[in-house]
Amino acid sequence: MLTLHRFLPDNLVLDGVKICSIASGSNGNAYYVEYRDEAIVVDVGVSFRKFFQRMSSRGLDIRKIRAVLISHEHSDHVYGVKGLCHRYQVPAFMSRGTLKGLKIKYRPESGCIKLFETGDTLSVGNFKIHTFAKPHDVEDPCSFRVEVAGVNIGIMTDIGADCQELDTHLSQCHVAFLEANYDEKMLRDGSYPQELKHRIVSGRGHLSNIQSADIVRKLNPPKLHTILLSHISQENNKPELAMAAFEEFKSSRSIRVMSRHEASDLMLVTDSSCKSVPAQIEIPDRLDRPNLQLEFNFQ
Ligand SMILES: [Zn+2]
Ligand SMILES: [Zn+2]
Repeated sequence: MLTLHRFLPDNLVLDGVKICSIASGSNGNAYYVEYRDEAIVVDVGVSFRKFFQRMSSRGLDIRKIRAVLISHEHSDHVYGVKGLCHRYQVPAFMSRGTLKGLKIKYRPESGCIKLFETGDTLSVGNFKIHTFAKPHDVEDPCSFRVEVAGVNIGIMTDIGADCQELDTHLSQCHVAFLEANYDEKMLRDGSYPQELKHRIVSGRGHLSNIQSADIVRKLNPPKLHTILLSHISQENNKPELAMAAFEEFKSSRSIRVMSRHEASDLMLVTDSSCKSVPAQIEIPDRLDRPNLQLEFNFQ
């Protein structure tokens, strides 16, 4: 195989902030942010094995991870945290309430646990991580705005209702993993027990497609160029319904749906764009290699 780096065109900027949804949905969540040789991950809600496989499938190096931030203790956010912490000595940052609610089987050993007060701003390497409260049916849940290299990335799922903290932080984001959990009609007509339906719409459950779009319409966040629709329900939503709810924003912003079943593309983020890093790159003519396609992996 050819040594790929020698053939990278000069204008292909690879030294920047990269993000990836490793998993998204009620079957597991993990959101990755990388800058140079450091990375953080918000939640590891799939098995460590699956997390590792999906990282590898996008050419990502797990050894770069400097911290895992935990949004709350539901298993779709913590399932693989312990495995990551133990194998790679990664510290797990969480609120006191999250630690209290975390089942023993998901709890990393105490040496890996770093507590914060919701509202704190954390520093991890080059990353500044703003933690903020959200309405959800656990004791002390939070969302995150990750600030690095002049770019702000929101990780905002499992939110029962719009709130001031969400508005404040979303207004500062360039890119956001934003929950669009359910279609209201599908949930109403679906097979979930009445009690569970009530929980989801209670204001401490999840955001519907419509509620999520309403927030974006109301705020009109000035910097937000890319919305990554996340935590899509299997039973009560479809990617095309989530996209349809955001139709009106497509002319001014990039909208994508994060898959429940695989890692997203690796995306390179700047303050004005969010572009997939291609799995294959075309070598420009000036290198005398017209039309040659090379497989491309990050190292
Ligand atoms: Zn969840
Ligand atoms: Zn939850």
